Amino acid sequence: MRYAAVVAEGGVVTYAGHSAAAPRADERIDVDGFLMPAVADRHVHIRLADPGAVLMGGVAAVRDLAWPADEIFALADASELSTFTGPLIRAAGPMLTATGGYPTSQPWAPPGTGLEIRGADEAAEAVVGLAERGAAAIKVSLNAEAGPTPTDSELTAVVEAAHARGLPVTVHAEGKGQTERALGAGVDELAHSPWSERLPDRQVEAIAKTMRIVSTLDILSRGEVTEELRVAADNLTRFRAAGGTVVYGTDLGNGSIPPGIDVREALLLHEVVGMTPEEVLNALVAARLAEGSPADLIALSRDPLEELDALGEVRLVVRAGRIVFP
Ligand SMILES: [Zn+2]
Repeated sequence: MRYAAVVAEGGVVTYAGHSAAAPRADERIDVDGFLMPAVADRHVHIRLADPGAVLMGGVAAVRDLAWPADEIFALADASELSTFTGPLIRAAGPMLTATGGYPTSQPWAPPGTGLEIRGADEAAEAVVGLAERGAAAIKVSLNAEAGPTPTDSELTAVVEAAHARGLPVTVHAEGKGQTERALGAGVDELAHSPWSERLPDRQVEAIAKTMRIVSTLDILSRGEVTEELRVAADNLTRFRAAGGTVVYGTDLGNGSIPPGIDVREALLLHEVVGMTPEEVLNALVAARLAEGSPADLIALSRDPLEELDALGEVRLVVRAGRIVFP
């Protein structure tokens, strides 16, 4: 649309469409650029990043996938206030894991980032506790390369308890056969494109029907074409060809990911996985700009559908109807 207008009230979009038909607004800002919903990053560790820089870079909502409960749920609550300088934070809380499993002894993870479960009952109780504290998803560690992982019965108990509360389950699957285990247990999402093994076609087709994948390719690349990136991109390309849904996520905080929109992640999805610029934009946003959607939007200095690197040229950021940048 050549002349578009978005009107917001109380943090919610009340009109999105041609400017000629837009209702009058009390306050008005004109932007010469490409208007789109702000970006949502579905895999971050926000305490290892600068929330203000994340928001100024065009990301207005993030989902934190592993941090100690006391700290992250308090921060998630604080992020709803208009005084908070940063994106809206939704959190999984700690990652459920086996005794001594990942990430309990990782240098990046403070004590409490992993919640050790012993048995199916304890697994289900842990889910109930996190749900009561406001978890947006339940994260499970199936990292067999860094230690023990929850058993199949524990994993199934987690999935059942989470689904009973309407919560999705996302897993860190690493090591041979771990994606297959997630699939078998009814897990909803892979928190990373699988990079530690080439998944068989039949498995990719099954995953595409029941799970979505959070991309996190750039964290594997570190600016280079690594073997991990090659495997992950191959799995993701076949997953998409089988009809699977890819959403944008970066693992921000856990490596050299820049705050804000990670242009390299978008370019990898386009150039390596073969997504069109329009498909990449759809993966980057949580919802389209329409009546009733959150008034989280950005303007870019040029059209990313022509060149995706325009995503690095954010010139306006609005969160919950408030102009936060410039
Ligand atoms: Zn992570």
